Amino acid sequence: MKTKAAVIRQMELPRPYVNSLPLSIEEVELDGPKHGEVLVQVAGAGLCHSDLSVINGSRPRPVPMVMGHEAAGVVRDVGSGVKNLKPDDHVVFSFVPCCGGCSMCAVGRAPLCEPAYEAAITGQLLNGGRRFSVPGGEVINHHQGVSGYSEYTVAAPESLIKIEKSYPIEMAALFGCAIMTGVGAVVNTAKVQQGTTAAVFGVGGVGLSVVLGLKLVGAYPIIAVDTLQNKLDLAKEAGATHAINASEVDPVSALRDLTGGGATDVFEAVGSEKALGQAYSATCKGGRTITVGLPSPGSELRIPALSLVAEERQLLGSYMGSCVPKRDIPRFLELSREGHLQIDVLNSRFITLDQVNEGFDALAQGEVARQIIKFDI
Ligand SMILES: [Zn+2]
Ligand SMILES: [Zn+2]
Repeated sequence: MKTKAAVIRQMELPRPYVNSLPLSIEEVELDGPKHGEVLVQVAGAGLCHSDLSVINGSRPRPVPMVMGHEAAGVVRDVGSGVKNLKPDDHVVFSFVPCCGGCSMCAVGRAPLCEPAYEAAITGQLLNGGRRFSVPGGEVINHHQGVSGYSEYTVAAPESLIKIEKSYPIEMAALFGCAIMTGVGAVVNTAKVQQGTTAAVFGVGGVGLSVVLGLKLVGAYPIIAVDTLQNKLDLAKEAGATHAINASEVDPVSALRDLTGGGATDVFEAVGSEKALGQAYSATCKGGRTITVGLPSPGSELRIPALSLVAEERQLLGSYMGSCVPKRDIPRFLELSREGHLQIDVLNSRFITLDQVNEGFDALAQGEVARQIIKFDI
């Protein structure tokens, strides 16, 4: 079948993207679903900083590729051998398709699934192969087994989490990356206790989700740190009790003053070693620094080694919020439905697939948190 999709062919094109057009909107060919695969009509797909990192080349992926790793949609067809999904099911994509059988999946470390990693770095589906192509034979890679910037996509069932049909499907896309990563870091990786002093460096889509998670578990105070006032205002809406504008004051001394020596649980959601260093410095003795952002592969962090022992400090990494998607996406959706996670604050605006390049300009300039591509469905 034919599907309209956003394809990246060259990374590191200059901004503004509305002129350089790193994502080309084209009609491509989509095969399948073959054995053990599912055809999904995409309803909504988010613009995430990790997509931007592919576009600007700081997190390279094989091109050409149909982009997008945060999406939700409706199952339209299933290949032979697919047992747990059927047409008309509503699904959220997990950007790590957890195989369930490797040594990491066996111990509940789904984000570290080994076959999923191999598939992701080679642009293939979990069990191998690519289903996008252009007339003439050029084969196009999948993005994290999702490729949500397309009207239709083919995915492994392990990439798909069935959800209740009554939940707004476009908004459900946010659970596939931002919510899993941010809320999961709070409730799974760090297991933050009620009443804990907490802070978040960087309040874009994932950082705002960390704030939502901290509010959910009853942390206090919840201190948001960012260089942009519009994002700090959003963080307040999401439940932050205090805001520090790092473009006006030194965030480390401001945070230490506010908390009497540093916060107990400090999250870093910027994806830079500088912000991570600041987050570590703003953590109190006995506290924990939890890093969620994805820095560029070559960056290194320097910290005083003695502080880990002498101050009983912990530095924790959290990928995909240490989530088990099949367990956590439905439970986070239920918490949202019951009013415990105010996810509306994450969505700055709905856009169309044709507006994706200008959407990434807005994201790169820090004007927005999440934008969701809404498809006619
Ligand atoms: Zn993401
Ligand atoms: Zn696995």
